[in-house]
Amino acid sequence: MKKSISLVLVLLLALSVFTGCGDKKNTNDSGEKETNQAQETSNVTDQQEENKFLCSEKPITLSIFQFLHNPYKDDYAAFKKAAEMTNVSLKGVVSQSSSKNKEAFNLMVVSGEMADIVTWDRAKIQELALDGAFAELDDLIEEHAPNIKAFFEEHPEIKKHATASDGKIYHIPYVPDGDAAEAWFIRQDWLDKLGLEQPKTIDELHDVLLAFKNQDPNGNNKKDEIPYFIRNDKRGNLADLALLWGAHSQNTNIWYVEDGVVKYGPYEKEFKDAYANLAKWYEEGLIDKEIYTRGKTARDYALKENLGGMTHDWFGSTSSYNDKITNIEGFNFIPFAPPANIKGEVKERSIRNKLHWSGWAISSSNKYPVETIKYFDFFFTEEGRRLINYGIEGDTYTMQDGKPILTDKVLKAEEGAVQALRNYGCQLATGFHQDFNYEKQWMNPVAYKGVELYTKNNYFMEQFPGGLPYTPDEKRRFAELSVAIETLMDETVQKWVLGGEDVESGYESYIKALESFGVKELIEIQQTAYDRYIGK
Ligand code: CA
Repeated sequence: MKKSISLVLVLLLALSVFTGCGDKKNTNDSGEKETNQAQETSNVTDQQEENKFLCSEKPITLSIFQFLHNPYKDDYAAFKKAAEMTNVSLKGVVSQSSSKNKEAFNLMVVSGEMADIVTWDRAKIQELALDGAFAELDDLIEEHAPNIKAFFEEHPEIKKHATASDGKIYHIPYVPDGDAAEAWFIRQDWLDKLGLEQPKTIDELHDVLLAFKNQDPNGNNKKDEIPYFIRNDKRGNLADLALLWGAHSQNTNIWYVEDGVVKYGPYEKEFKDAYANLAKWYEEGLIDKEIYTRGKTARDYALKENLGGMTHDWFGSTSSYNDKITNIEGFNFIPFAPPANIKGEVKERSIRNKLHWSGWAISSSNKYPVETIKYFDFFFTEEGRRLINYGIEGDTYTMQDGKPILTDKVLKAEEGAVQALRNYGCQLATGFHQDFNYEKQWMNPVAYKGVELYTKNNYFMEQFPGGLPYTPDEKRRFAELSVAIETLMDETVQKWVLGGEDVESGYESYIKALESFGVKELIEIQQTAYDRYIGK
């Protein structure tokens, strides 16, 4: 069932991709043509081909409020190219000397003169929209934006995210692409030196960490290695290890669903087992002794001092230590597949969040809402998406085997590939769907290999939806309860891992404490909001 639906959507998308915003104009005079669109587009003349992206018959200029890294620049090459193709030019309203985006935004709101297009925070746009500041986009999308419509149909979670509490859409979101976020990393050169393989199970993981502890892989005749370390700038230092025993304790996945039932990690029985094992590992010296105190610099310290053997952290920044560290012979810190959990499943907790804070909206004072939504739609066509991701053909990219390949002008740019593209107006969080292939082209080769490994094998766990539609009462109560409960969880976990309390003997009173703090009510609220979210 699911498969056949997505096939229909792919077909719809393929159809709509061929029809830029200008095509709608051709079909206006005859409803018949609409049904023959596929046939018609395959026979387009050169003239039609040229015009197919036109969003306005005569050239128009729309003002734009945008301050992403920089105030919008009128000479962005990608937007100039878009103007040639669509007949819509943009003119920035934020002064180039302006340095604070929030201040600039508030100034505009107070002045009462909204720009025609506003690129800003989704929540703020939705809030102001309820006061009438922005145009409702639902009908405009339905009638004039076939590519956005198809995109929303194919990505219902993003449509939900773009929908305000009154059920209407007021902005077209920026949509990041790619799944890979964090990974397991290991000193492959240490494994090689000790004649060990990458660990594939919990037992093997234990044995590798123990070997790192006892067999002096850094070769200084001291047992100074820190087998497993982690930057603790986020909640749940040991969450990725704990997950191997099925315990959910990290912010992004503390909630999960099994057969439609919402579960809360700290209240599930797996929690006890996981932290009982981790307390043993800590005692054995497999986990950084200073796990709770070392702070954000743990990774930097452990790697640069040639002490750290394994961690779980971001692909890009962690891989970059292979370039940064030049004084440790053979240093090779690489991503490896997640060790199988206790059920034998290979799963990665982290995944890139597709539900971004930014997007662009049409102000109520904009005199060209139809042209503007067509213009937004242009960036969801194949050509428009390529333009906003890769820039100008022959300059920032060339087509090879049907794929855009970035040129050295971007890849070897002194300011870095991302900034080089941003100077063209590309890869800023305006309303478009990012293409992860762009990132793969400039990524550190170590990270690239890891991303390929994680992506090809699709290790990513299913994610619990963020931003559930709570009622105001639920929202207030949820916040109240979860603060106290999660503080209790953090304190208990730390006590257990550091050996301050035996897990076995402390577990029952921990569960009682959770219950007295209202954990059952918390779970009930979450279940209700989740059921509402999935439309139950
Ligand atoms: Ca040593």
